[in-house]
This record gives sequence, structure tokens and C-alpha cells, in this order.
Amino acid sequence: MPLPAATLSQLRTIVGADQVLTSKEDLIPYSFDGTAAMSQMPGCVVFVTSTEQIAEVLRLANGTKTPVVTRGSGTGLSGGSLPSRDCIVMCTARMNRILEVDRANLTMLVEPGVTTLAIADAAASVGLFYPPDPGSMKISTIGGNVAENSGGLRGLNTASPATTSWAWKWFCPTAKFSGPATSA
Ligand SMILES: Cc1cc2nc3c(=O)[nH]c(=O)nc-3n(C[C@H](O)[C@H](O)[C@H](O)COP(=O)(O)OP(=O)(O)OC[C@H]3O[C@@H](n4cnc5c(N)ncnc54)[C@H](O)[C@@H]3O)c2cc1C
Repeated sequence: MPLPAATLSQLRTIVGADQVLTSKEDLIPYSFDGTAAMSQMPGCVVFVTSTEQIAEVLRLANGTKTPVVTRGSGTGLSGGSLPSRDCIVMCTARMNRILEVDRANLTMLVEPGVTTLAIADAAASVGLFYPPDPGSMKISTIGGNVAENSGGLRGLNTASPATTSWAWKWFCPTAKFSGPATSA
């Protein structure tokens, strides 16, 4: 069953009308991920740009019992961002800011849509080395990397996202927020 007009209207209010895709042509690229053998049409795609928007989308979805599938760049090979029928695809790829590079503490504070390559480049710009190097690193996002624990050949003798990423901020499906207190 397609998403009710009222739900779509509320989503447009939350993220802005231009951040919600609903036409068949626009939805097709989001109906599959890197696995490609499987596909399913979502009800809409929503591009979130802040944690507040994520919370509001989840609250609305929880209240209307609408499934949500989170998506980064959709390069996953395990069907993780494959939509369920008529779900809301919540895409975090536009949350792509590097908020802080703290050389002294060897840490970086980033939004989930930053690409792996951008993170590696930011580390290199201050003389540091970010090891995880999935073959998709030019387009895969750190959110997807963490969810899939994606690494590449450098992970054989260095590290994977499971050991290099920590202190995530995350949401329950009920929009309950959890994570460390940070300034960002
Ligand atoms: C050409 C190619 C080469 C690849 N090479 C490698 C490789 O060398 N090593 C490797 O491990 N993998 C590889 N992959 C697989 C894939 O690129 C990785 O799994 C990558 O981490 C997925 O990132 P993504 O942003 O595309 O995530 P998506 O495919 O969009 O999502 C993957 C999973 O992460 C979840 N997710 C995404 N963003 C968030 C978020 N913000 N919050 C919570 N959950 C989120 C999704 O729900 C989904 O379950 C490759 C894929 C391709 C197409």
C-alpha cells in the first residue's frame, strides 16, 4: 500500500519538500543496493540533514507504523539498505560534514554521510592515517562502513571500522537518542 498523503506531507514539513522523492523514476535507483539481484520499491526517499530531522522522521514512522530503512550510498553487498515494500528510505548521505579533526587525540568527529575517502584525506591532511579502505571508499559512507564493518586490504594488518570508530550517536526506532555528550 503506498504511503498515505498525510504521511508524505508531514515528511515534507520535517525535511523540506525538495528532500522527499516520491516519483517512480526517482525511487527506482533506491529500490536496490549493491547486491542488485534483489529490489523492492520504497514508498519514498527522505534525505535527512540533521539529528533533529532523524528523530522527527523516526517519531512519525513509529506513530504511523511505517517501516524505515536507513541508507548511505547504497553500495552494500549484503542487502542492508534494500528497501522493504513501501517503506521510508531514510538516506543520510547528505549529512556529510567533517565537524572536527583532533590531531592531538587522534580522533575525528563526523556526520554519517561523509565518504570513507574524505575521512582518509582529512586524516592525511594532518599527517594521520585512516586504515579502513573498502574498494568502494570513493562513494561509501562512514555510516554504511560502521554498520557493515567494511574494510579492505589494509584491514589485514591494521584496523577495521569496528576498532577505529567509537562513541556513536544513535537512535532507537522510537526516536530515543543515545550517545556521548559532545559539542556537535
Ligand atoms: C565496487 C564495490 C567495492 C566494495 N568493496 C568493499 C570492500 O573492499 N570491503 C567491504 O567490506 N565492503 C565493500 N563493498 C561493500 C560496501 O561498499 C560497504 O559495505 C560499504 O560500507 C557500504 O557503505 P554505504 O554507504 O554504501 O552503505 P549502504 O549500502 O547504504 O548501507 C549499508 C548498511 O549500513 C546501514 N547504514 C547506512 N548508513 C547508516 C546510518 N547513517 N546509520 C545507521 N545505519 C546505516 C544500512 O541500513 C545498511 O544496513 C564494496 C561494494 C562495492 C559496490
